[in-house]
Amino acid sequence: MKYRRLTPKSSGMALQRDRPCPMCRNGQPSVTIPASDSASRHDNVLLCIEDFQCYEDLEGKNRVVHRIVACGQCGFVYTNPCYTPEGFTWLFEKAGKSYGQSAGRCHEQAAWLLQHIPGSESVLDIGCGAGAFLKALPQGITRYGIDIDAASINDACYNDADEHNAAIHFINADLTNTFFEPDTAQGGIPDVATITLFHVLEHIPDPQKTLLNLRAQCRDNAALIVEVPVIDRATTEQDQDIVGFYTIQHLSHFSKASLHAMLRRCGWRVKFSDDISGYNGYRVLAIADSQQHQAVSSSERQGDEAATNDYLMQWRRNVAQVETVLSTLLASIVTPVDIIIWGAGQHTEYLCHLTGIFNSECRFLIVDSDPLKQGTTLHGIAVLAPDAVPEKLWRDGTEPIIISSYGGQPQIEQQLLQRGVAQQRIISLYKQPNAY
Ligand SMILES: [Zn+2]
Repeated sequence: MKYRRLTPKSSGMALQRDRPCPMCRNGQPSVTIPASDSASRHDNVLLCIEDFQCYEDLEGKNRVVHRIVACGQCGFVYTNPCYTPEGFTWLFEKAGKSYGQSAGRCHEQAAWLLQHIPGSESVLDIGCGAGAFLKALPQGITRYGIDIDAASINDACYNDADEHNAAIHFINADLTNTFFEPDTAQGGIPDVATITLFHVLEHIPDPQKTLLNLRAQCRDNAALIVEVPVIDRATTEQDQDIVGFYTIQHLSHFSKASLHAMLRRCGWRVKFSDDISGYNGYRVLAIADSQQHQAVSSSERQGDEAATNDYLMQWRRNVAQVETVLSTLLASIVTPVDIIIWGAGQHTEYLCHLTGIFNSECRFLIVDSDPLKQGTTLHGIAVLAPDAVPEKLWRDGTEPIIISSYGGQPQIEQQLLQRGVAQQRIISLYKQPNAY
């Protein structure tokens, strides 16, 4: 086993660019303000982590500024700078198992659709991934799935032997660009009764453009189901997680009110809404209507600002709590000691920026059960498969093992115990985390 210390950071290549507010277009370069000068818009910076590395080492090229701002004009909260198309694609390819939904969610989504839009004869799922939701719908419904990720579409088509799934049309396309340009060969969306966007809108650089395109191309009485995480529920649902609501994969950070306002602007009227229990999901059913440029009201904006402040206060307490667990660990051992970290995802990058663990004299080894991360390095530290660590080291070693994951903590703890790791070596950062 080779334990190593964290290598120093180096400056990165830009995978990002400045953009106007996705809601009110404040800061639009063509209007008055230079695109590079976001400060002149008086946007309010809520959170900023400089030199944030997106997953494995890539000679410092995959370092970004993770900055969350509130628009100085309309209050909308978004990530700025935003990823360039290259940065965006890269980020999602490397996220691997860090990104996904729990098994069984697709059946709940399908049941919800059937309950709220009975008799819908066709469905288009945008950001369909491997097609779990479409496959959970009854066979009588004509089903289309679009995803930007070719690997997911390949997975989706893999079950072609299954007659039920073979009837689903899966399309690999970039829904934010090519697919919706009316002049391209691909132009136009399939003519469907219902369009679904489950946890997609918050990842898109220009959600308004997508919603407008859908509205322009859909049939008159089309229904749209949108689900996003919202700040209104962040304090309760994101719980103690130090990654939490303002994750690097989300580019727009909606509130219930701002989601409604954006839908209105794009010609979608919310007919019904639902807080999905067990995680931060706010689901609305909207129907095609005329465009209404009615912004978030001042009382709604005050409510959103209060929710944002409450959440940020809680987030800082969460970071302090994790720091306390780690400094207690460091105080209890004589450094330098070797430490194993389980988890090579975003959470470990947060530990690196927000806590002092990597500044200690300790040396580290990282393990992760995601094959996409195995064999890589993270700030110069090797990432291994759990099986690549000798059984003896799990069973008889004395190194502390830090679980660097919020949602995955219970499962990782279980795996460690199964490998014969003594309970006192396991450092869990969270008390009873919620499963997302
Ligand atoms: Zn704005």
